[in-house]
Amino acid sequence: MKKIIFIGPPGSGKGTQAKRLASRFEIPHISTGDMLREAVNDGTELGREAAPIMASGGLVPDDLMVGIVKDRLAKKDAQSGFILDGFPRTLVQAEKLDAIVGNGTEGVRVLQLLVPDEAIVKRIALRRSCAQCGAIYHLENNPPANGSVCDRCGAEVVARADDNETAVRTRLEAFHRQTLPVATFYKSKSVLREVDGVGPVDEVFERIEKSLT
Ligand code: ADP
Ligand code: ZN
Repeated sequence: MKKIIFIGPPGSGKGTQAKRLASRFEIPHISTGDMLREAVNDGTELGREAAPIMASGGLVPDDLMVGIVKDRLAKKDAQSGFILDGFPRTLVQAEKLDAIVGNGTEGVRVLQLLVPDEAIVKRIALRRSCAQCGAIYHLENNPPANGSVCDRCGAEVVARADDNETAVRTRLEAFHRQTLPVATFYKSKSVLREVDGVGPVDEVFERIEKSLT
C-alpha cells in the first residue's frame, strides 16, 4: 500500500506532480488546499471559516484540518493507498497523521520538493487555475490552449485569491517556520526523499519516480 506525502513550498509544483503520481499509481490525490477551496466555493461552514485565513496566506487551525483529513482517509478509495498534498503542514498535524494511519510511518514515503524562494515568487505570479476542476496552468510554461478557458472542462481559468504577493510572502514564511520541521520529522524516521523541483514538469516527475524506487 502506497502512502505518499508531498511537502514543498507554495508553488513548488506539489499539486501538479501529486496529480500525475496519483494517476500513475491509481490512488486518490488528496489535496487539502483543493478541499478547502471547494468548501469556500460551496459556502459551507468550513469554507466560511477558512476563506479569510487562506486569503491572507495563514494556516487553517490544526484541529479543523485533522478532522477533514481523518474523514477523507476513512473513505473506501483511500484504503489501498493515497497521496497527500498539503497535509501535514505542521508538526501537530504530522503527529496526528501517525495516529490516523496507524502503524506510524510504515509504508510511508515523504517527497520534499526543493525549490528556492526566488523561483517561487516568479512562478506564482504566472500561475492560473481552473475555478471549476482545479486544473493548474502557467501562463508561460503551460498555458491553456484557448485564452482563459480550461482545456479540461471549459470553465474559466483564474488566479487564485491567495496568489497575490503579500499572501505568497506569508505562505512562504509559514512554510519555513511550520512545515520545514515536518520534513525534519520524517527525515529522522528515514522516510524522507528530497527531490530537486526546478526544471520541466516531466523531468521533475522522473526524479520523483526514481526517488521512490
Ligand atoms: P500552497 O500552494 O500554498 O501550498 P494549498 O493549495 O496547498 O497551497 O493550500 C492553500 C491554503 O489552504 C494554505 O495557504 C492554507 O491557508 C490552507 N491549508 C491547506 N492545507 C492546510 C493544512 N494542512 N493546514 C493548514 N492550512 C492548510
Ligand atoms: Zn477545468
